[in-house]
Amino acid sequence: MKPVHYYLLTGIFALPAIISCNGSNAKNSVNNNLKNSVNMKFEKVALPYATDALEPVISRQTVELHYGKHHQAYAENLNRLTAGTKFENAELETVVKESDGAIFNNAGQVLNHNLYFTSFGKNGGGEPKGKLADAIREQFGSFEKFKEEFNAAGVSLFGSGWVWLAKDKDGKLSILKEGNAGNPLTSGLTPILGFDVWEHSYYLDYQNRRADHLKELWKIIDWEAVGARY
Ligand code: MN
Repeated sequence: MKPVHYYLLTGIFALPAIISCNGSNAKNSVNNNLKNSVNMKFEKVALPYATDALEPVISRQTVELHYGKHHQAYAENLNRLTAGTKFENAELETVVKESDGAIFNNAGQVLNHNLYFTSFGKNGGGEPKGKLADAIREQFGSFEKFKEEFNAAGVSLFGSGWVWLAKDKDGKLSILKEGNAGNPLTSGLTPILGFDVWEHSYYLDYQNRRADHLKELWKIIDWEAVGARY
């Protein structure tokens, strides 16, 4: 756990760290930042928990492959594909909204997995709180009814893709089924919670039982992180 948190904090507090340093340390920090920005403009989010923290809902092996290989490949592809294009220095969300083809597929998947992997936690589960809880109750009747509808959307999505909870500019919630790399951003909506229904996300642990996998995922949701997106 500790090295992971340190990495996160380094990213957030990179600037204050440089300012408070002096001499060669400060120089090295700047050089390292420059080096990173050139080599990997688009980076996947740091995993905010250990790779076995989500067991038994998602196994360590699945996290290692899904985050370590699949997510990594999307990020590397995106950097390679955008090099020398108008998207080279764009924000990830802008690339998702304005690109198509292979760039869109990889940008969408980097963003989708950034949201996905930061929606879970070791002590997750339970129910949302605050404004998101109120909006869910108001629009779906209850949290249980919302979960049923969300799971049903995930089960009925044919092939690979994502089921999303999204909000519009007025805070109205909706459940969307998106194929492949789809994200609610392209419909002008803000993604709140996304379940990955690509087989790579569950096949090692659940084989063909996608419905069972989706039911289990609610036990590891970090509602503080998800609620902050509403
Ligand atoms: Mn995936």
